[in-house]
Amino acid sequence: MRIDLLTLFPEMCETVMAESIIGRARRKGALQVCCHQFRDFSGNKHNRVDDTIFGGGMGMLLMAEPIAACLDDLFEQLGKKPHTIYMSPQGKTLTQQRVKELAQEENLVILCGHYEGVDERVLEAYVDEEISLGDFVLTGGELPALALADSVSRLVPGVLSAEECFEEESHYNGLLEYPQYTRPAVWRGREVPPVLLTGHHANIRKWRHEQSLLRTAVKRPDLLEKAPLTSSDREFLQQLQETVQEGREQDSVREKEKDA
Ligand code: SAM
Repeated sequence: MRIDLLTLFPEMCETVMAESIIGRARRKGALQVCCHQFRDFSGNKHNRVDDTIFGGGMGMLLMAEPIAACLDDLFEQLGKKPHTIYMSPQGKTLTQQRVKELAQEENLVILCGHYEGVDERVLEAYVDEEISLGDFVLTGGELPALALADSVSRLVPGVLSAEECFEEESHYNGLLEYPQYTRPAVWRGREVPPVLLTGHHANIRKWRHEQSLLRTAVKRPDLLEKAPLTSSDREFLQQLQETVQEGREQDSVREKEKDA
């Protein structure tokens, strides 16, 4: 896959995308990332790419032409117009499902806004999709673009090693991941769950799956509505609910006994 980032801060994006797993994947050719400075396409000697907003109001807006010229140049180099995304607090919030779909693309182009954002006309002319990182506002699109590029890149074949496999991780199959532990087996009096030390793979798999269900039920019950649950998953969750309910009832009896 090739990802092209259009930004006022290509060095910032390059620095992040040169590190760790993504940097390693780029160096071995599993992934291509190119950062473009659209200021280079300003067409004026001061390299100015922003201007005041028609109709008044605070702040500056990125002008359409430098971004359009940068995109035209890129599309000409690539010989096609890839799926083009604008990072925006007005877009659809990014999900792991969308990340999986985007990881199937051969190319992605990601535009980072700044200041008050971007002239609407360039969005109308070039952008296929707006993506948000969440219902909050950042100063620029670089951090969300890097989050998108990172999350998509790690699903590209050859980017993660076998040990870093993503298929059991949170959200991949609609559930949160089970708790994990490393050495020592006892840390400050806290023990690792004994099943993990048995070497019994089937029992460990079962325990982990049940812990995933439990965690999701406790931390993100909303996810269970869409998760692909089997009938035994549903039974496990039903039992869990009954146990919690019984516990609550016992607590309330104890409280009443204390008050009497
Ligand atoms: N005036 C815009 C609005 O109210 O919708 C917000 C502009 S914001 C200060 C500057 C840039 O940061 C945006 O153009 C966008 O690229 C990026 N940005 C800010 N918050 C974001 C978010 N939650 N998700 C994705 N991008 C965001």
